[in-house]
Amino acid sequence: MGVDFIYPEFEVVRNENRCIACRVCERQCANEVHAYSPERGLMISDETKCVNCQRCVSLCPTRALKIVKSDCTLRENANWQTETIREIYEQAGSGGVLLSSMGNPKPLPVYWDKILINASQVTNPSIDPLREPMETRVFLGKKPDRILREHGQLLCDLPPQLSLSMPVMFSAMSYGSISYNAHASLARAATELGILYNTGEGGLHEDFYPYGPNTIVQVASGRFGVHEDYLEAGAAIEIKIGQGAKPGIGGHLPGTKIVGDVSRTRMIPEGSDAISPAPHHDIYSIEDLRQLVFSLKEATQYRKPVIVKVAAVHNIAAIASGIARSGADIIAIDGFRGGTGAAPTRIRDNVGIPIELALAAVDQRLRDEGIRNSVSLVVGGSIRSASDVVKAIALGADACYIATAALLALGCHLCRTCHTGKCNWGIATQRPDLVKRLNPEIGSTRLIHLMTAWRHEIMELMGGMGINSIESLRGNRLMLRGVGLTEKELEILGISHAGE
Ligand code: SF4
Ligand code: SF4
Repeated sequence: MGVDFIYPEFEVVRNENRCIACRVCERQCANEVHAYSPERGLMISDETKCVNCQRCVSLCPTRALKIVKSDCTLRENANWQTETIREIYEQAGSGGVLLSSMGNPKPLPVYWDKILINASQVTNPSIDPLREPMETRVFLGKKPDRILREHGQLLCDLPPQLSLSMPVMFSAMSYGSISYNAHASLARAATELGILYNTGEGGLHEDFYPYGPNTIVQVASGRFGVHEDYLEAGAAIEIKIGQGAKPGIGGHLPGTKIVGDVSRTRMIPEGSDAISPAPHHDIYSIEDLRQLVFSLKEATQYRKPVIVKVAAVHNIAAIASGIARSGADIIAIDGFRGGTGAAPTRIRDNVGIPIELALAAVDQRLRDEGIRNSVSLVVGGSIRSASDVVKAIALGADACYIATAALLALGCHLCRTCHTGKCNWGIATQRPDLVKRLNPEIGSTRLIHLMTAWRHEIMELMGGMGINSIESLRGNRLMLRGVGLTEKELEILGISHAGE
């Protein structure tokens, strides 16, 4: 029993004067909201099934449709709000854990919006990025603390580095949680842009091996799809310990999504649930983590950087210090607003900390301990724009991971029902009829456009500050000021208040 005894969340508003009963909406809706009624000679709607993905609205040839949030109100108050009451009804009906998709929607602080960027005026000239050189390239991996020479010659041998044309990568989204065509779009775009995308924990489909130089292959606790060729295929290997949307728990891809190529790529039987355990059962200490880091380096002849990905949690600075000492080359930290294909709602909405505070605390701790150069820092968890990227770099990141923004570029309308497997935009689904709605050619072009636009904006913001390279911006907190933040928040972020 669901929540069908309360009024649906959304209403389908159909303008009967415009509707020509072409039935496009009926064919396009995987949730079966629309149907043609021969008795009445018109289209009807079952609004209880509507998730407001906007597919029908976008494709209706006569603009006859609108989906609106229902204004039918429950008798809510400040304590018992409509969403809480709905959730109680749902659990009373199902007896199950509530599941959600995409990132934490709660009105918790978004610190990016409380941080402002500096600009040059009068005494220090700004730089015009259209006329003067501007470097957005970054290299991720261990760096020496000082320049070394031998017999007068510079020693240029560095541990393996990832080279990116701009400080942004597409973060982990597994084949299975997203479609083949979504993966193809990401892989092609990353290759064209000179950045990297990430397999997530679902293995690497054989068709995508040619994109290896622009691929990060992930090793998660379930070890799905991990084998020698897989490790060899990627430019870097990421050990996933945690994820911002669900810190402290494992992953679960329902058996309904483990079909065909997904099952082959993950190396598990069709229809079986893909459950990654909460911990790696061989990691209970930094020493254990070090063993896995070096096993992976050994398996790939020390030619690939190893990333360790963790969720931003309360003692993240100490955790990052341990990871840096484990031999990892890059630490990826995922904040609590990070997206997901499926997570228990209570975990997603209540566990973890904001990425801005985690990043500032980690960068400072690694500097204080004199080990900042022994790792690069990559942060993710709702990076929404070029200005978020610039603020993250100035707070101490080497690069950012984006996922939700990339999915939006592919056509995602944030209906937040990825866990149902019925994504009408062909992204978070394995249903062949839905997957084919996303054209990888168009998808990759849109991703390239998005990243090209962000790169221009990053250069404009840096030019305004009088800074001509990401390297000069990294950790340059003097370029940031806070607004409306407490003394404690400013102290953790390591920035002054606006006006100071
Ligand atoms: S797509 Fe638009 S015009 Fe066609 S049946 Fe649906 S509402 Fe009517
Ligand atoms: S990926 Fe698809 S199902 Fe998930 S939020 Fe976006 S449109 Fe909805």
